[in-house]
Amino acid sequence: MMRKYRICLAAVITAAALFTAGCGGGAASAGTAPPMPTETESAAAATVTETETTTRESEAVTEEDTTPAETEEYPKGENSVRTAEELAGKKVIALTFDDGPNTGVTNEILDVIEEYGIKASFFVIGQNIDPESAKAMQRAHSLGCEINSHSFTHSYMDQMSAEDIADEMERTSELIYEYVGEYPKFFRPPYIAVNTTMYDTIDLPFIAGIGCNDWEDRVSVEKRVRFLTEKCPEGCIILMHDAKDNEKTAEAVRQAVPMMLEQGFEFVTVSELFAAKGITPAADKEITYSYATENGWS
Ligand SMILES: [Zn+2]
Repeated sequence: MMRKYRICLAAVITAAALFTAGCGGGAASAGTAPPMPTETESAAAATVTETETTTRESEAVTEEDTTPAETEEYPKGENSVRTAEELAGKKVIALTFDDGPNTGVTNEILDVIEEYGIKASFFVIGQNIDPESAKAMQRAHSLGCEINSHSFTHSYMDQMSAEDIADEMERTSELIYEYVGEYPKFFRPPYIAVNTTMYDTIDLPFIAGIGCNDWEDRVSVEKRVRFLTEKCPEGCIILMHDAKDNEKTAEAVRQAVPMMLEQGFEFVTVSELFAAKGITPAADKEITYSYATENGWS
C-alpha cells in the first residue's frame, strides 16, 4: 500500500542521503556481537494490531489537514548534536525508549529528563502518534531528545516485502517530521528482528542496545534500577520502553538517573554517542549497533 506518503519519498531519501553521506568503513571491532536483547513484547504488539484500524482512520483525517498542529510551545526544527570536542572526557551513555509516544509514561520519563537537564532518544511507533501523543514527542524534542523510528505498525518486518518495509518507514518518518520538523536518524527494528531485505531497504543505521526485559511486568522496579545503575557501561545504548502502562520503567528511571549522574554519566542522544566516539554509523551495511566506544562499535 503505497498511499500518498510516496509524495514525500524524495524528502525522506534526501534526508537519509544527507545523513549517510560519508559512511565508509566504520572504525570497528566488528568481531564479537553483543548479546541481542530479544524483544518478546507480544502483548504490546497485540494491542498495536488491534488499534491499527482506528489509528489509520484518524491518520486519514490528519492527511486531509495538510497543516499539522503547530504549537508555539514546542517549536520545530533540528536539534543540535554535541560534538566530540564538547563531549570529550565525558562518560557518555545513551538512554533510549521504545514503543511510545503516549501521554502518560512518556511524559513521566520526560519529567525526569527535564528535571535533570539530560537527553535521551525515543524510538516511536508511527501508529501511536496522534495529535495528543504527539505533544509528548514534541516535548521530548524540545528538551533536546532525539526522535527516531521504531516502524509504523511494530510488526515483524523480517517477514515483509521491501515495499511494505519502505511504507512502514516512510509513514513514520513523515509523521515525525510533521510534528517535530526533523526526520529520524536511526531505526530500531521491532523485536530486533532483521534480515537482508530490511538492511537493503531502510536507509537509516539500525540500533539495538542492552536491556532488562522491562516490557515484562514481573521485572520489578528494583531490578530495573539495578540494571540501570550496575549493568550499563560507558558507551552503551540502553534499551528501555516507554510503552503505555509501563509505569515501572518510569519509576526506575526516576530513581536511577540521579544515581547514574552521581556515577559520572553524561546522558547523550544516540547521535551524540557516535559523535563522541568519532564513529560514523553506517546505514548501508548489515550492522545493528549496541555500543560505541573508544575501541569502536559493536
Ligand atoms: Zn518495540
